[in-house]
Amino acid sequence: MARDPGRVLIFDTTLRDGEQSPGASLNLDEKLAIAQQLARLRVDIIEAGFPFASPGDFDAVQTIARQVGRPDGPVICGLARATRGDIKACADAVAPAANQRIHTFLATSDIHLEHKLRKSRAEVLQIVPEMVAYARSLVDDVEFSCEDAGRSDPEFMYQVIEAAIAAGATTINIPDTVGYATPAEFGALISGIDAHVPSIGQAVISVHGHNDLGLAVANFLEAVKNGARQLECTINGIGERAGNASLEELVMALHVRRSYFNGYLGRAEDSSEPLTGIQTEEIYKTSRLVSNLTGMAVQPNKAIVGANAFAHESGIHQDGVLKNRLTYEIIDARTIGLSDNRISLGKLSGRSAVRARLEELGYQLEGEDLNDAFARFKELADRKREITDRDLEAIVRQNAQQIESYYQLAGVQVSCGRDLRATATVTLRTSDGEECSQAAIGTGPVDAVCQALNGLVQVPNELVEFSVKSVTEGIDAMGEVTIRLRQDGRLYSGHAADTDVVVAAAQAFVNALNRLVSGQKHSPLHPQRAPLPAPAL
Ligand SMILES: [Zn+2]
Repeated sequence: MARDPGRVLIFDTTLRDGEQSPGASLNLDEKLAIAQQLARLRVDIIEAGFPFASPGDFDAVQTIARQVGRPDGPVICGLARATRGDIKACADAVAPAANQRIHTFLATSDIHLEHKLRKSRAEVLQIVPEMVAYARSLVDDVEFSCEDAGRSDPEFMYQVIEAAIAAGATTINIPDTVGYATPAEFGALISGIDAHVPSIGQAVISVHGHNDLGLAVANFLEAVKNGARQLECTINGIGERAGNASLEELVMALHVRRSYFNGYLGRAEDSSEPLTGIQTEEIYKTSRLVSNLTGMAVQPNKAIVGANAFAHESGIHQDGVLKNRLTYEIIDARTIGLSDNRISLGKLSGRSAVRARLEELGYQLEGEDLNDAFARFKELADRKREITDRDLEAIVRQNAQQIESYYQLAGVQVSCGRDLRATATVTLRTSDGEECSQAAIGTGPVDAVCQALNGLVQVPNELVEFSVKSVTEGIDAMGEVTIRLRQDGRLYSGHAADTDVVVAAAQAFVNALNRLVSGQKHSPLHPQRAPLPAPAL
């Protein structure tokens, strides 16, 4: 039997695999805010990034290790290919954390060996123990992944796992990278490893999977029944293509159906001991934070965290719910941190009230950042009677976006209407103090604003997404705009919110342009190397 930590460990990869979603890229402050919230959610392991990929990735992992990797906090993990350079960089990046892990990987399928790595099976059997042992010489906690496990010859994979464990791997991860497995197949893959690797008792079996067929969560639950004790997942299920297994769905399935799963973990059926270490009341807050900072909206019908997940619109249901909540709801909304009676803030709310509410929402702002957020709060409170949590989130998100900005929007003016040509005049200020204005006409006010901004900035780009949604209800609601620009196949997103949708659009466009411009600049310390492509794991 594989090593049993006594419960199911939650390995969150929102900041590594999740961040690989097109257009989801996060800056350092945003990554740190998410990592701090993941610690409050009490995930067991945070995969903070791929340190060797770029200096920015290295810094992010190191900062998270320093600020979130407390002795009673989560294990901070970095990803590394099975090479000395990657593993050394990873060890250096996670070094400030009290609990450190290196996660290294190598393919075990013949397709990958022949076409990608150009290595023989014998070479793999030599590299894996060598690199795992090297990682173990730097940290005590080493995870090894068999990339493309699903298409590997099982006998060969068992040998590789045996060699990795002999060299010191403490966790063995089995990924379904392409999201092809069905639950029964995936369960059999895990039980095969449990049965055929003699030293598996020294390691925890982990699973990783993508949701191409919508089966990632189902596959993982089947893996738990067959001996897996670590689940690699992301908040809101974000990730490449159709995403990763969703943390909140896995955790709540194990929570709500505890009596079903208890037996597989060797517990009495009626045991009420939680199956994961997750603080479920932090789930909703974490979901909102990740959605806000990545700009990846959660679909309304998404399980657990979607806007409609707890709403009962139809008459019959409402009647049933009023009589007894459990008639139609299998989860009490408070379990995930959703309470229905919230006091909203207004014009007379002071700085400490705003700060306290922001902290509850997962944002810890100090000094200048808090001043900026409070100033924006006051400005909004003059225009809007009630400031909700969503409004506050929009304010903070806008602050975070402006930190690294080269261009600042100094003014927007539009004229539009029926029988009028939409005209916009915009003024930009650069961080060097220069100011310039431009006017343009367009098919509508937003188009005119974008034309004018493009005229000023003069960097080629293609607008691939423009979406507006209202943050809250009512005529004075803030409109939230998301814009995605494409240049050379890369996506850059910008968000902004304002009670004036045209101003929000202008600000979102400027935020996206800032990301595009800063993405082109290379650090003077590392001028040569372009970032590594994302690993296929
Ligand atoms: Zn993945």
